[in-house]
Amino acid sequence: MFDYLIVGAGFAGSVLAERLAVAGNKKVLLIDKRNHIGGNAFDYYDNEGILIHKYGPHIFHTNSREVFDYLSKFTEWRNYQHKVLADLDGQQVPVPINLTTINTLYNLNLSSSELEGFFADKAEDVKQVRTSEDVVVKAVGRDLYNKFFRGYTQKQWDLDPSELDASVTARVPTRTNKDDRYFTDTYQSMPLYGYTKMFENMLNHPNIKIMLNTGYREIANEIAFSKMIFTGPVDEYFNYCYGKLPYRSINFKFETFDKEQFQRTGTINYPNDYAFTRITEFKYLTGQKHHKTSLVYEFPTADGDPYYPIPRPENAELYKKYKALADQSDTHFVGRLATYKYYNMDQVVAQALSTFKKIQAEVGIKSMHNNEAAA
Ligand SMILES: Cc1cc2nc3c(=O)[nH]c(=O)nc-3n(C[C@H](O)[C@H](O)[C@H](O)COP(=O)(O)OP(=O)(O)OC[C@H]3O[C@@H](n4cnc5c(N)ncnc54)[C@H](O)[C@@H]3O)c2cc1C
Repeated sequence: MFDYLIVGAGFAGSVLAERLAVAGNKKVLLIDKRNHIGGNAFDYYDNEGILIHKYGPHIFHTNSREVFDYLSKFTEWRNYQHKVLADLDGQQVPVPINLTTINTLYNLNLSSSELEGFFADKAEDVKQVRTSEDVVVKAVGRDLYNKFFRGYTQKQWDLDPSELDASVTARVPTRTNKDDRYFTDTYQSMPLYGYTKMFENMLNHPNIKIMLNTGYREIANEIAFSKMIFTGPVDEYFNYCYGKLPYRSINFKFETFDKEQFQRTGTINYPNDYAFTRITEFKYLTGQKHHKTSLVYEFPTADGDPYYPIPRPENAELYKKYKALADQSDTHFVGRLATYKYYNMDQVVAQALSTFKKIQAEVGIKSMHNNEAAA
């Protein structure tokens, strides 16, 4: 008899499995329909021996000390500040847009203070900000909107920014200095031996049993357990009773080149040319030394694994109906698919840690420290 059946071995399921097993001394069965742990953060060595991310590039960044300290129990880190360039008009310029971007694109020599005036000059006077297009043209004007946002958004969502909710581009990050880091979070590091190794360390506990290649419907009635935590798609759990929640997916194309380095930085975005949105070269992210190099191209698509909830008001309404069912249920719904929200890894870890605290309060799991010492 298991105390918990946890469906999904990504960050949401694995963090909860670890906490319940170690701090709660609970017996946990963790299942995943895929043939590996780690969810979308899964990485592995390809045929050439290069560490790659199966579901697209995953870069860890967070402002949460709690999340960083928690994960640090399972991995050492390698400092890594991700950098992105956009391939535009035959040049490659920093993203987010900064002083170098503007001076390079327009062949100018502006200072930081002059750049503020440049943006103010270009910005359009939008009275009511409703769509993503409104957000961007109000901040940086139409030319930069066309160069950086319009084509990229069209490829990513198969929608024009004028059809997408303002919340999708709630803020256009622009910088008036030359800071060319993609993220500005306090903690920016990659697990030194990869994500999968980190998950293995997290789940290595006698209270945790793992079953892979197992969909939850296959076993839910076969195995005895007291409580369930579900991290798969919430609409699937409720048999799509209100219809399917829409997602955008991605086809990943991997390629290895017989040279040490392919591009100038970790990721190059292609906002306007080609069917793919970006190319990422893994060795930048992982720091691996190898005489060859592996890349991934991302082709957004309508069909495939559910990756990005499509942020439109009607979808939010549909999710609300599922959430009402979830709120009445005995099962805990945690993670990106179960809450129909695009969360970064650190946000999912934070959500899982706070769910554990709730469970702890509900079922009266005693002091974490005593149990951890006993485990
Ligand atoms: C292309 C891409 C790039 C990303 N890049 C970043 C990044 O750079 N930085 C960052 O912080 N975040 C990034 N993310 C987000 C990150 O992937 C998520 O935050 C994280 O994976 C969420 O963890 P999760 O446990 O909620 O979901 P998942 O990782 O999706 O795990 C859910 C698991 O549940 C399993 N499952 C589902 N249904 C069932 C079922 N019925 N039975 C059994 N198992 C089931 C699935 O197989 C899956 O393994 C990216 C996401 C994508 C799609």
